[in-house]
Formats: sequence, C-alpha cells, structure tokens
Amino acid sequence: MKQEKISIIIPAYNEASNINKLHQSLAEVLTKTQYQIEYIFVDDGSTDNSAQIIEALCSKNSNVFYIQLSRNFGHQSALKAGLDIAKGDCVVSMDCDLQHPPLVVLDLIKKWEEGYEVVYTRRKDTMKISFIKRYTSQFFYFIHNQLSDFKLDRGTADFRLMNRNVVNAFQHLQENEIFIRGLIPWAGFKQIAVEYESNQRYSGVSKYSLKKMISLAFKGLTSFSTKPLKIVVYVGLISFLLSMMLLPYVLISYLIGNAVSGWTSIMITIFIFGSLQLLMIGIIGLYVSKLVIQSKNRPLYFVRKTNYHSQTNAPDR
Ligand code: UDP
Ligand code: MG
Repeated sequence: MKQEKISIIIPAYNEASNINKLHQSLAEVLTKTQYQIEYIFVDDGSTDNSAQIIEALCSKNSNVFYIQLSRNFGHQSALKAGLDIAKGDCVVSMDCDLQHPPLVVLDLIKKWEEGYEVVYTRRKDTMKISFIKRYTSQFFYFIHNQLSDFKLDRGTADFRLMNRNVVNAFQHLQENEIFIRGLIPWAGFKQIAVEYESNQRYSGVSKYSLKKMISLAFKGLTSFSTKPLKIVVYVGLISFLLSMMLLPYVLISYLIGNAVSGWTSIMITIFIFGSLQLLMIGIIGLYVSKLVIQSKNRPLYFVRKTNYHSQTNAPDR
C-alpha cells in the first residue's frame, strides 16, 4: 500500500531564530508516525536571514521545501501559497514560532484517521497568552459571531489539518482578500476541534502588528457578512424618524419667534449626525474597497522561487 503523505505548511516572516528549532521539534514528534512527512516553509518576504536558514535546512533534509514569496504578502496569503502547492494526502498548517505545540499535530492526525476532513484547533485561554491578545481576540470573535452567519469557535487560529478534498476546494477560491479561519466553517466538511495550550513564542516578537490585526479583523467581518450595511440603513431610518419628530418643535419655535436660541442643540446635532454620517460612509467604503480590490483580480502572492516542483508535478512558477 502506498504510504500516505502529510504536508506541513509553515508561513515564516522574519523567523530566523525559530526555523531550526521548529523543524527539530516537529521531526522528533513526527518520525514516530507511519506517514511520509514533508515540510514546506513559506518565506513571506522575510528581511532577516530566514531564507538562508530555510535553504540550508533544505539542503540537509530531502523532505524540507520552501516557497519564497516576492515580498511580504501577509500570513493569509502565505498560507494560501502553501495550500496551492502542497501535494500531501492531508495538510497541516501551523505557525513558525512554536506557539502551536508540535505534539498537538499527533492529535490532529489521530482525528484525521478517524475520518474527519478538517481538524481545527481551539486555544485554551491560559495565562501564557498576553492580556491584550486574549481580550482583543475575544472581542473580535464576539463581534464576528454577532454579524456573521458562520460562527467561529473562539480561539481558533491557523493551526489545523485539512484533508486532500478540503485543500482542493480551497485551491479554487478566487477571493483577493482571504480569511481562511472564517472560510473553514463556511466551507462545511466534517470538522472537529482539538484543544491545546498555546506556548510562549520561542524567540522573536509577534509579526502581527496592531495594524495587521485590525486589517485582518475587517477582512474577516466584511468577508462573511453584509449586516453592517443593513445596520447603516437602520441607523439612517431611525435618525430620519427622530428628525421628523423634531421638525414640529423647530417650526413652532420659528412661528412663535423663539428660533434664535438653541446653539447647544445645534452643536449636538451637528456632532452626532456629522460623525454618524462619516461612520456610515466609512462602512460602505469598506465594502466598496473590497469590490475595487476584487475587480482587479490580482493574484494573492507572487513566488520568487521554490524548490518544491523539483520533486512533484507542481507547475513551475
Ligand atoms: N506571518 C507571516 N506573514 C506576516 C505575519 C506573520 O507569514 O506578514 C507568520 C509568522 O512568521 C508566524 C505566523 O504567521 O509563523 C503567525 O504570526 P505571529 O506568531 O507573529 O502572530 P501571533 O502569534 O502573535 O498572533
Ligand atoms: Mg505567534
């Protein structure tokens, strides 16, 4: 019987001090399995010496590969680059900083063997995660789940296993702004969660700046729900009704010659309605910008070089 293959996809952005350690820890854990394992590092435009370290690792290990992107396209695009190319019977994606414990990969594989098509992970809320990360993440999941029809399990990250079918389905996605975490419940398939305790980052600092986190949150929200646009309509409707109720007061004040006073109420009205209008236009703008980006239909990433096709049938890119 043909030995089944597991591809491990690891997006790396300036992770020079973590790459060897992660590979070593994974190799220790995974050599015990009956599967053929391949590691695919996706170098997302690193500016440190991650690329050299990955290439050195590849030259020492015949089952380590890399895809080097032409610049920093972001974590989600890097993951998609890995999914597009990986040939394994199942694909595991995980971070490069050892926050996703290599031992948990065995649990993912076990669930796959039981017949699950997607095995995702749920991070336990432990003290190891920073206060800010914990609460911003909880806030995001709360808002997302209020707005979206496809609920996200709190604490899910891009640490998961997908079987061949699911990976094939994801290869066909044409979205320019991709939020894989949200697409998993949307896609369906037989899924199960595995809980894990996140480690501290082995070395280096988080590559998710506040700006990147906010941008990902907006991507997620606008990808899975148009409810904010409906909220705009409701807010507009309510403020219109309120204005209509105020109209008789304004007219009567004018008629009885009482119209000059009222600076405070005018200022309050301008502040409230001015900012509300900006907010509402901003929400609409988010969706319009999504349309603009999608209409250009640009690829999610460019590959500078990869050594993966040398052993597979993947197209030369
Ligand atoms: N990452 C990436 N491109 C980016 C930002 C991050 O490929 O633009 C990778 C990073 O190297 C890591 C994973 O995505 O392997 C998760 O990033 P990080 O650990 O910095 O995020 P955090 O755990 O702080 O949310
Ligand atoms: Mg991390």
